[in-house]
Amino acid sequence: MSKTIIVAGAGHGGLTAAALLAKAGFDVTIYERNEEGKLGYDWTDIFDPKALDVVGCPRPEEVGLPWEWKIDMTFYGPNTTPDKKIRQRVPNDPNEMEIKMERSDIYKLLIDFAVKNGAKIEYGVKINGPLMAGDRVIGITTDKGDFTADMVIDAAGAESVIRTKLPDCLGIQKHPNWGEKFYVYRAFYDLPVDPATVDDKYKVILFPDSESIGIGWIATEDTFSDLLIGHMDPLTVSEAEAIAERYRKTNPQLGTKKLRGGQLVLIPVRQPLSIMVADGYAAIGDSAFMTVPIIGSGIGNAIKNSKILAETIIGDKTETYSAETLWPYQYEYFQKMGKNIAPLALVKLLLTRISQDQLDYAFNEGILTHYELTITANHTSLWKFLHFDPNLPKRGAAILKDPDLLKKGAGVVLDVVAALAVEQFLPKQYSRPAVQAWAKAYDKVFTHRLKAMGKV
Ligand SMILES: Cc1cc2nc3c(=O)[nH]c(=O)nc-3n(C[C@H](O)[C@H](O)[C@H](O)COP(=O)(O)OP(=O)(O)OC[C@H]3O[C@@H](n4cnc5c(N)ncnc54)[C@H](O)[C@@H]3O)c2cc1C
Repeated sequence: MSKTIIVAGAGHGGLTAAALLAKAGFDVTIYERNEEGKLGYDWTDIFDPKALDVVGCPRPEEVGLPWEWKIDMTFYGPNTTPDKKIRQRVPNDPNEMEIKMERSDIYKLLIDFAVKNGAKIEYGVKINGPLMAGDRVIGITTDKGDFTADMVIDAAGAESVIRTKLPDCLGIQKHPNWGEKFYVYRAFYDLPVDPATVDDKYKVILFPDSESIGIGWIATEDTFSDLLIGHMDPLTVSEAEAIAERYRKTNPQLGTKKLRGGQLVLIPVRQPLSIMVADGYAAIGDSAFMTVPIIGSGIGNAIKNSKILAETIIGDKTETYSAETLWPYQYEYFQKMGKNIAPLALVKLLLTRISQDQLDYAFNEGILTHYELTITANHTSLWKFLHFDPNLPKRGAAILKDPDLLKKGAGVVLDVVAALAVEQFLPKQYSRPAVQAWAKAYDKVFTHRLKAMGKV
């Protein structure tokens, strides 16, 4: 008889893992709280299309779904003048470029892929938590009853009710800390100006709001403007609308008539989860905090890493799907992506410690350049952001002139070194004490400055 797998939540990585596992002969059922055709958000997303190739999912053009290339973003500090703005320089190379699609179309693509490969989807089922037998996850409890399986893949997002209700003894972090998530408001508005008159079509402002550390973007499309406000502190819709009103004073492209979206959502912008597996359990996508910590992109990574997860499950000849036999998933994920992406979270945490003035200084003095702000489809590693730049001495001299900035920048370098050192000791084989001891050391690298700030 086929082994049974529950995928909790139709997250992106969960859908592609479901497809690969169903194709390999597993009996896979995805449980999703939303009704059929109502998944995702009413807006567009940007991701690396090569992720689809990794799992063998068709590209959108192969199934007649619309997409377009992402355009370069232009970055501003809180008070940057147009002559100091920094525009990305993503090479005009399909291997480096990301695509933009409607989220509903991404879901169409991935759901179709999962179903064609034999996965089943139960819509309209609200999961309440994991079903446990001792320390082992044996299924899910839902508003439609309990469901059991040989293992559960947690693809229920950053606030997964499975992960957050696991017993403490498993050592799996339940909630991201302050500074590790963005509270985001996103909506599309009308476009009151001719788009040809807008110079910065994809304008991103770092630290635009005095209310909270965060970002704002205003992207100008042909017929609408796309607003995103991301804060590290909770945000309400009326606060977001008041901030939008302020943006309109200097951004006439942002209209007042809301056309789509308008929800508040959460994006994890942090290091990957320190323990992703337990007996009968593995987390993928936002549930395992796999987004790029600086920008919060998680679709491509969730899809790419679902292949590692599926191969680990398929390769488990013991068919026990225990923490021990699922551990190679986490280990391989960390070797291929996690260990390089995690240090980016330390760079992002620097944003929680510098002031708006210091950020303006970094723009004005050329400390920040297009090297650091160009993010391509392949930027899933800190090393991708580092380049040799002939202006390095000049940039170094500018940092030296601001001792506080220098101190904070040096702190990040030390933290990155500490993270790389800890990552070297990720146990290759699973044992609960060894893995939990490692997780403690890893988590500490990312939380010690937040603790010093009284935020943890
Ligand atoms: C405003 C915004 C913009 C973003 N832009 C981009 C972008 O441009 N590019 C990019 O790569 N990423 C982007 N992201 C991040 C991206 O959405 C996630 O990283 C990506 O979706 C991976 O998350 P996931 O699929 O694991 O989880 P999710 O997208 O959160 O999906 C989880 C699924 O589980 C379901 N679920 C949750 N709880 C339950 C429950 N109790 N019962 C049943 N079902 C449940 C949910 O309904 C959902 O379908 C953005 C996020 C936001 C919020």
